[in-house]
Amino acid sequence: MRDGCSGAFVKRREKGVWHKRLYVQTKMFVGHYSVAFACRTERNKIPLWVLFVAVQFLDYIWATLVLLGIEKLRVIKGFTAGSMLDSYFHPYSHSLITAVIWSVVAAFVYRTVCSRHPFDSAQDRLSHYSKSAPLIIGLAVFSHWILDLVAHPRDLPIYDNAAKVGFGLWNYRDPEFALEIALLAGGIALYLTRNAMPAIRKGAVIAFGIALVIVQIGDTYVPRTPLSDKATAMGVWIFYTLFVIVAFAIEKIGRRGQTNAP
Ligand SMILES: [Zn+2]
Repeated sequence: MRDGCSGAFVKRREKGVWHKRLYVQTKMFVGHYSVAFACRTERNKIPLWVLFVAVQFLDYIWATLVLLGIEKLRVIKGFTAGSMLDSYFHPYSHSLITAVIWSVVAAFVYRTVCSRHPFDSAQDRLSHYSKSAPLIIGLAVFSHWILDLVAHPRDLPIYDNAAKVGFGLWNYRDPEFALEIALLAGGIALYLTRNAMPAIRKGAVIAFGIALVIVQIGDTYVPRTPLSDKATAMGVWIFYTLFVIVAFAIEKIGRRGQTNAP
């Protein structure tokens, strides 16, 4: 029996057969995107796709470091409520200290990029850059750790690979799923009410929200064959980037009509 900081990985003898059960892990998933939707306003004009990168920035770093063999992950076959990932060593992407550092880095990068493209006259460029935008980017990046704290078991280090925390909502599959969907719905509702957009884009945003709910249903309830750690990390890169592309495309829908509007 192995338990504790590497996740409540339990081997137990039952009817003469060793069963493995992983109680840890599903990562808070579409709930992260609720923050991206909620952060975007007419005032800060931060592109939705940038916020989609920001809220998953720590997982992008995590997936990259797993691919490089620096952070460690077990993919354990067994009956689990959702994910089969045991992130037992991720101090550089998911400790509280590094999460703060990455948030500051992201805010700084956003500020630097925006300040190099000031006052562009094009409608959709960075001319609308607001001073609070880098702070919002930083908070969006850090929100990932807070939501992971709610969902993860005790696998999030405060520093290095030590003092691990996590409320483990994942252990309660239905409430965890309900929270993800409620967060997403709330975020999308804020996005729709706080941003002016044509009806066609509103419809696309709602359709995207429904697609994310379907993805979450698959992630939470549909049993899957476990992939290797590297394939899992690659999947994270591919899927998250796909969502970023959709977020980018959505804000282009009906733009011409909006631009020409009086
Ligand atoms: Zn994470």
